[in-house]
Amino acid sequence: MNALSSVKLIDGKACAARVLVEVREQVHALREHGTQPGLAVVLVGTDAASQVYVRNKVLRANEVGIRSLEHRLPAATRQTELLSLIARLNEDPQVHGILVQLPLPAHIDEHRVLQAVSPLKDVDGFHSENVGGLAQGREVLTPCTPSGCMRLLREACGELRGKHAVVVGRSNIVGKPMAALLLQADCTVTTVHSRSRDLPALCRQADILVAAVGKPRLIGADWLKPGAVVIDVGINRIDEDGRSRLVGDVDFAAALPQVAGITPVPGGVGPMTIAYLMKNTLLAFALQQQATRQERTPCPSPC
Ligand code: NAD
Repeated sequence: MNALSSVKLIDGKACAARVLVEVREQVHALREHGTQPGLAVVLVGTDAASQVYVRNKVLRANEVGIRSLEHRLPAATRQTELLSLIARLNEDPQVHGILVQLPLPAHIDEHRVLQAVSPLKDVDGFHSENVGGLAQGREVLTPCTPSGCMRLLREACGELRGKHAVVVGRSNIVGKPMAALLLQADCTVTTVHSRSRDLPALCRQADILVAAVGKPRLIGADWLKPGAVVIDVGINRIDEDGRSRLVGDVDFAAALPQVAGITPVPGGVGPMTIAYLMKNTLLAFALQQQATRQERTPCPSPC
């Protein structure tokens, strides 16, 4: 890679390392005062990818000094058992964040389980209370991947106000919260999806393009406005030249000469997701402290 392209590279690995240093320092300060944030990770079943994700999350938590509690349950776990575990974690004062690793086995109602997590401990930002809070612009826990993308964009672009952002993909996990966060940052936001007409023309309007589709190299150079900043959330495994490799939703090599900045895959958004899980655990801790203080403060007038 030449010098020009390395300037254009939005390095998620380096940014995630900076986020983790910030979190570690804050956790250290809390521990000096005798408290420690705790993150409970719940994994149901033996899905291979989920096992890797959970292992990495627990590892990262330990590295930054967050107490991690792993709950590994067999694939045949009944929904009621899972719901009672979540109820116990909601009540546990040592647990500040609860993450239920998705996907859950087919016999379990994912929505019901995610709604059972206390909104103040919902470090994934999937509870409808937090989804609604994000839409209203309140300070709530927001999903880790889009939150990490916002940090990358702020570092790459500086001021986001007034920029036209196009989000490709409308999932609950990435596309929709991403669009809401960009709107909160005063961008003009267009969300496009599989049913949108003339995607290339819509994408070419973007000062900021966020791709969250799951289709290898869907977005070519001719979909991009010269000077755009591109955040590629997609992670796609393909076989190429006789080897297996990970690529994004954007054709990185083709896009590079004409963009102002672009995240690589791997090494872009991926590391930010775990870093923001740690940041969210700290935020959950702070929100819970705030809620406890408010509960203890007597009402100033008869109410
Ligand atoms: P999803 O399948 O839930 O949603 C995909 C979205 O893309 C849908 O809204 C759909 O309308 C849209 N879409 C599908 N085909 C399209 C097309 N041809 N043109 C335009 N839009 C199209 O996926 P998701 O959970 O949002 O994940 C998207 C990608 O991001 C996947 O590759 C996933 O692996 C990756 N991902 C990465 C991270 C990370 O940490 N880097 C986190 C979450 C997801």
